[in-house]
Amino acid sequence: MFQQSGLDVGAQQKNIILDKMDKMGHEQVLFYRDKKTGLKAIIAIHDTKMGPSLGGVRMWNYKNEMEAVEDVLRLSRGMTYKAAISGLQLGGGKAVIIGDAKTEKSEALLRKFGEFVDSLNGKYITAEDVNMSPKDMKYIKMETNHVTGTDVALGGSGDPSPVTAYGVYMGMKASAMYRWGSDSLEGKTILVQGIGHVGEYLVEHLTNEKANILINDINEERLKEVSEKYDAEIISGDSIFDLPMDIYAPCALGATLNSDSIIRLKCEIVAGAANNQLADEELHANQLKDRGIIYAPDFLINAGGLINVYSEIKGFSREQALEETKNIYNTTLEILNKAEKDGVTTNQAAISIAQEILDV
Ligand code: NAD
Repeated sequence: MFQQSGLDVGAQQKNIILDKMDKMGHEQVLFYRDKKTGLKAIIAIHDTKMGPSLGGVRMWNYKNEMEAVEDVLRLSRGMTYKAAISGLQLGGGKAVIIGDAKTEKSEALLRKFGEFVDSLNGKYITAEDVNMSPKDMKYIKMETNHVTGTDVALGGSGDPSPVTAYGVYMGMKASAMYRWGSDSLEGKTILVQGIGHVGEYLVEHLTNEKANILINDINEERLKEVSEKYDAEIISGDSIFDLPMDIYAPCALGATLNSDSIIRLKCEIVAGAANNQLADEELHANQLKDRGIIYAPDFLINAGGLINVYSEIKGFSREQALEETKNIYNTTLEILNKAEKDGVTTNQAAISIAQEILDV
């Protein structure tokens, strides 16, 4: 189903979107516009076979509406695969708010978005994502109960980042086991790109393992803070892709695995938290495979955050969420072995396992 309420999407673009929905398997894409608050939002519901669709809401200053559509379609499909491969009774969805988060975000706009989420009666459950803060989620929650991952004070499960980082760490260790026959990361040179919420928790795990940690971020203050706290070495700018290292952990934004970076990368494993790390899923997964670099699929190893909000819905504890997340180790090994056996990319192996679960 395709619905539109106020956003300017021309007839030709509508066909493009419907074609994309067909190709990617989306159930529903909803456009929302509220002139009074300035809200322009899109909610994409990819698949609700396993349960209600769940995925965060991000606010981004997209160049145009099609760019926002592309983003929300890809992200919502990723959520379906992430839930399926993690064995959760959830479907995949995502929301984007188009606009500059610094200047256009307001209580009224967020509450209006909350009203829209509420109108779906739980078919889409929202959560915090890029450029949304716990305070923003509080405004959304004033209008709808279909919100997860809010502050503990609001009855939510709080910051999911420690659980996400633990899952990434598990996926990284499983990849090390597959490549080197031991999952110890001691002495391994690991570059963490993006030392935000998840990145810092990952650095903490790696410090405990006595890894040789390199960090990269565009935020100079964070770099100084984290390097002093964990004795990590700061690497500046784009030179990270020319540096010899054992593991590259992308924990900033997506699409850092592209035709430029892959030919330069001098690592044996890529394992990180960022969503949509492959700029082009097929092309760049194959380029990594051809170069003999092991890629731990992002939607698999960064699923800890989703497992955490799922535990909130089901009433499980943080400890149980961490226990479930530990299993990312076994699933990663299963996928790396399957990819080798089937002669496909690790991304393809992970998608086919998720698809098998959805097809049952
Ligand atoms: P964050 O915003 O707290 O941290 C991101 C960090 O990346 C910031 O310190 C930022 O300065 C840095 N950064 C941005 N652009 C950069 C660039 N070009 N080069 C180097 N550093 C750059 O975000 P987060 O919550 O830590 O999430 C990190 C990534 O993991 C995101 O892609 C997010 O979508 C994904 N993810 C997060 C969770 C979670 O639980 N937080 C769950 C799943 C996936």
